[in-house]
Amino acid sequence: MTATTLFYIIITIIIINFIIDKILDTLNAKHFNDALPLELQDVYDEAEYKKSQSYKATNHRFSNITSLFSLILTLGFFYFDGFEYVDDIARSYSSNSIVIALIFFGIIMFASDIITTPFTYYKTFVIEEKFGFNKTTIKTFVFDKIKGWFMLAILGGGILALIVWFYEFTEALFWLYAWGTVTVFTLFMNMFYSRLIVPLFNKQKPLEDGDLRDKISAYAKTAGFKLDKIFVIDGSKRSTKANAYFSGFGSEKRVTLYDTLINDLEDEEIVAVLAHEVGHYKRKHIIFNLFASILLSGLTLYILSLLISNPMLSNALGVEIQSFHIGLIAFGMLYSPISEFTGLIMNHFSRKFEYQADNYAKQTYKAEPLITSLKKLSKNSLSNLTPHPAYVFMHYSHPTLLERVMNLKL
Ligand SMILES: [Zn+2]
Repeated sequence: MTATTLFYIIITIIIINFIIDKILDTLNAKHFNDALPLELQDVYDEAEYKKSQSYKATNHRFSNITSLFSLILTLGFFYFDGFEYVDDIARSYSSNSIVIALIFFGIIMFASDIITTPFTYYKTFVIEEKFGFNKTTIKTFVFDKIKGWFMLAILGGGILALIVWFYEFTEALFWLYAWGTVTVFTLFMNMFYSRLIVPLFNKQKPLEDGDLRDKISAYAKTAGFKLDKIFVIDGSKRSTKANAYFSGFGSEKRVTLYDTLINDLEDEEIVAVLAHEVGHYKRKHIIFNLFASILLSGLTLYILSLLISNPMLSNALGVEIQSFHIGLIAFGMLYSPISEFTGLIMNHFSRKFEYQADNYAKQTYKAEPLITSLKKLSKNSLSNLTPHPAYVFMHYSHPTLLERVMNLKL
């Protein structure tokens, strides 16, 4: 195989990915106006239903424009040897491969973030604003960006520097060291994400004493679960959309509720949502996901180690000097069909786990308040109630609302 063949393989992968995505989007959009199933007819009233139809259509059009823009940008970058151009700039500052890799990825990431910022701005301040979801101020938007850059530079830059360093010193075995680093990082982040990262972006405080807390404690006791770390986060700072999630394990395990969730739901419904989250923990989904992601990153790094020393990877992107960072980009493109596939498998497990967590809530608490809470949450985020099955199969990490309601009613 020649570098030119490899170049065309990469381009083909990018285009096929785009086409599959667009076919799924179009299929899904064709069903936006389907009649609502009987079980879901009480989710929206007439006016809200109209609003949800228009929200879906707006987002669909917007995603068509952004994905086409990013396809053209990517192909243009490949065609005009953008990688070589950026590589030359990085090499003009240093001859150290770690520094070159950091400058190279720094430029690529920063530039692509700046170029796509008008789109995120439009999504937040025009689309989400128009449908009444947006609570983000310009100030929050700008600070989020800056904080995001710093985090990426420190965490992403640190890990990248370590991996390039391992590669320089150990060559064929570098993947083992890299895997070790990624594993330690993943475990650490899982444990301390809520403590270290969340406070940079949100205020969180323990759930106050009172009726709700008593009801939650009473439930936790019957389920035999120690649930003393319940936090409320100011999600309303950015959006009216509500959420709840479980994080950490061992002594660091905690449940985080959005303040918007507490506003939208009755106490009983909140307990039901918590029971669902406890179900994820009790059924060991948290541990499973953690192990799966560690195993997958090991597999990816191992395959990377087999290919990375081949100069053809760099040459395929039009870069003459072979290097780890250019090889990494080419590898990322070549690997994307495999990661699409593993993503599908993970989504499949995730949907299974959602049923298990729902069933846990049903068995240890009640089904009815979980049903009404799911319906309220769908209504308040103007969710699509009639997604196409193929779209669900490819993209959904949760079963559809209809599937969950039917399962809970069994
Ligand atoms: Zn869940």
